[in-house]
Amino acid sequence: MKIEAICDTCGRTFLLSQIGPDSDAPGRCPFCGARFARHYSPVLVETVKEAELAVARAVLVLGRLQSMETGFDIDIEKLLSTLAEQVRAHEVPSKSPSR
Ligand SMILES: [Zn+2]
Repeated sequence: MKIEAICDTCGRTFLLSQIGPDSDAPGRCPFCGARFARHYSPVLVETVKEAELAVARAVLVLGRLQSMETGFDIDIEKLLSTLAEQVRAHEVPSKSPSR
């Protein structure tokens, strides 16, 4: 599954795959060229790829559950809000625009 992100510098939306290891400019904004996570560049590019694979895997496995006649329904809304909560818990608290 494609994950979208917004550049802190130019405010445009791009796909994480556009800055991954197979992209034209790994670790850089495809629009303004800003370098992301300056101090973690190789790690960033690898982590982007990992994030996309992990999400794709989760969608596949949950979809498989959903397609079984289990007798229960996955609470997708709850799953998504919990996911958002837990991902946001990792945000850098003093995240300031890097300009
Ligand atoms: Zn940008």
